[in-house]
Amino acid sequence: MSIEASEWIWHQGRWCRWQDASVHVTTHALHYGSSVYEGIRCYDTAGGPAIFRLHDHLQRLCDSCKLLRMDLPADTVDRLAEVCHELVRRNRHDSCYIRPLVYRGGGAMGLDPSSSPVETTIFSFEWGRYLGSDAIEKGIDAGVSSWRRFSPDALMPLGKIGGQYVNNQLATLEAKAAGFAEAILLDAGGFVAEGAGQNLFVVYRGELVTPPEASSILAGITRDTVIVLARGLGIPMRCRRLTREMLYLADEIFLTGTASEITPVRTIDRIAVGDGRPGPVTQRLQQSFFEILSGECADRHGWLTAVEVEAQVAIRKAS
Ligand code: PMP
Repeated sequence: MSIEASEWIWHQGRWCRWQDASVHVTTHALHYGSSVYEGIRCYDTAGGPAIFRLHDHLQRLCDSCKLLRMDLPADTVDRLAEVCHELVRRNRHDSCYIRPLVYRGGGAMGLDPSSSPVETTIFSFEWGRYLGSDAIEKGIDAGVSSWRRFSPDALMPLGKIGGQYVNNQLATLEAKAAGFAEAILLDAGGFVAEGAGQNLFVVYRGELVTPPEASSILAGITRDTVIVLARGLGIPMRCRRLTREMLYLADEIFLTGTASEITPVRTIDRIAVGDGRPGPVTQRLQQSFFEILSGECADRHGWLTAVEVEAQVAIRKAS
């Protein structure tokens, strides 16, 4: 999916123009996948741009760094949060997708990453619906991948680590070649893990179910958001292991992620999910989610942080 350039990027500790944010070919991460990253959305709310669960995303970035043994200064979360706000302001976004990336830079070779410097870049761009504009309303066609999600004794599913995403790319390429919009991966034990870039929920026998963290999933922030919303709406909810056949028998399936938001699945392996249309539980959760993101509904959980834009931008929006 190609993206439009923004004006500014925060690159290796300073502000530079989009076209100038480059790295050397000896960058360790290019060779060995030694990078960690986040994907964060900033929404256009009635009160101006607001970033969704910024602190939680930056905390997960720090956790991923810890898993890869990349040392970050103690005040990293606060510093990067300020940079994210400044990025939205400088690029004059109403809404956008923010991509912080921490990686091992250039100057050394070999598998031991410790002599390659840890560098940070944050860029932003305007990004619509990840799975297409109809996906959120009508749902997508997904297929179970022949690629398994890597097990936690080989890699670290809870980390958002660049090199690990070769697994997700293989599943995505296979799904697209088979005519599916998205791949669903099973874990090494054959239980359902997640989508190639999303967590998975099903409505099965009257209960909302999502695989637990031990099913080799990334602990998604949207997944957590949906769990909190479901509890608030009184929807019976449980984290438990799911088998492939439960996907075929489910009344509803949806995927959650920062890019994909809450996307219904209408067929799985070409079998209709329920009646092949987004079901009532999915729709209630979507409604509750989007009401918070648009600012229509009170942000009771403190998930949005407003970006202070210049007075004239706020006035332009209000008039
Ligand atoms: N699983 C994987 C493999 C992902 O890449 C993502 C996207 N970050 C998710 C789940 C969903 O996570 P989140 O809701 O935090 O975006």
